[in-house]
Amino acid sequence: MALIVQKYGGTSVGDIGRIKNVARKAIAAQREGHKVVVVVSAMSGETNRLLKLVGELTERPNEREQDVVVATGEQVTIGLTAIALGAAGGRARSFMGHQCRIVTDSTFSKARIKRIDADAIYASLDRAEIAVIAGFQGVDEDGNITTLGRGGSDTTAVAIAAAIKADACEIYTDVDGVYTTDPNVCRAARKLDRVSYEEMLELASVGAKVLQIRSVELAMKYQVPLWVKSSFTDDPGTLVCEEDAAMEDVLVSGVALDRNEVRVSISRVPDAPGVAARIFGALDQKAISVDVIVQAPPVDGKTDLTFTVGKADLVKTKDVIDHLVPEIQAGGVQVDEECCKVSIVGVGMRTHSGVAARMFKTLYKEGINILAISTSEIRVSCLIPPKYAELAVRALHTEFGLDQAA
Ligand code: ASP
Ligand code: MG
Repeated sequence: MALIVQKYGGTSVGDIGRIKNVARKAIAAQREGHKVVVVVSAMSGETNRLLKLVGELTERPNEREQDVVVATGEQVTIGLTAIALGAAGGRARSFMGHQCRIVTDSTFSKARIKRIDADAIYASLDRAEIAVIAGFQGVDEDGNITTLGRGGSDTTAVAIAAAIKADACEIYTDVDGVYTTDPNVCRAARKLDRVSYEEMLELASVGAKVLQIRSVELAMKYQVPLWVKSSFTDDPGTLVCEEDAAMEDVLVSGVALDRNEVRVSISRVPDAPGVAARIFGALDQKAISVDVIVQAPPVDGKTDLTFTVGKADLVKTKDVIDHLVPEIQAGGVQVDEECCKVSIVGVGMRTHSGVAARMFKTLYKEGINILAISTSEIRVSCLIPPKYAELAVRALHTEFGLDQAA
């Protein structure tokens, strides 16, 4: 007997037929003798629809109120799922974030989970129920509704798995696992049987949308074995787990593409100590995460500073920077929405050299100009013009031997 958390994403609960399918799967797991917790997202498209309604009112909504609106999507699916479980002969109880005390900080729209009341969940399981918990939402210390950021249900699921010490956390989605790259972009993409937490973290942070980054961080921290599976097939899926020696033999495990980044350049920034700290400190205060950062060599004591942020953070970023430019006596700010980031990821890079050079050469051979570069120990990312995005992915996929046998 195992304790299992199953998370079903938006497409898996996209209509009533699919919700019935979720009920069948959860009951099947329970009948095999397992204790089952189900975490659900909103029905596919619902969170976007709600955000759009908010967007029709204002570009800069009050984020507390926006969370009140967007958290409703998951309330609908937990109720429907619990009803479907009952109708299929199961026992179930739904829980909103505040009802199983998913306590977060007060960073509306990007809250972080602080603790979860495992006892409420254990009590439900002891009553032989399937506990159906709303993903994405929580409650802060003052009782305000919060949400965890787009894709946050993954994080809810992993945090619950960690809190109740589950044996496994299964993330059910519309793909049957983690691929070497997006199969929609590259038909030679292959499904990975296993991938390390760290690789998954890098892949998620550079645009592989299978899992929310935070969920992978939590899984790694609490050593939660994480399965990515399809709710529509019986494929075993991909296991995200601790790295082992065999994984290091593979130079590159995946190629990712991120089209959701915007390039922001601040011109004529004074080349003095503390200026970067001020700019990035101000962005950090608004919970805006910055990726590729490039600083040009200074001319006459001034330098140009370029960085990327997620498209969703563009308005907030502009507000912060417009405010700062006169304060730090910079020249001005320019936003270039046309940019995309292609990355290669693999733990094998730690022990092999020359990987970055091979990547640059591959892009060069395709006539692709690199706008900026960033690296980590197991990742190399290049900003390139978006019209070359798919070409770059396919070329790199082939170069690093990832194409599946034809
Ligand atoms: N419903 C939320 C979203 O669309 C959370 C999730 O799906 O994980 O972002
Ligand atoms: Mg999702």
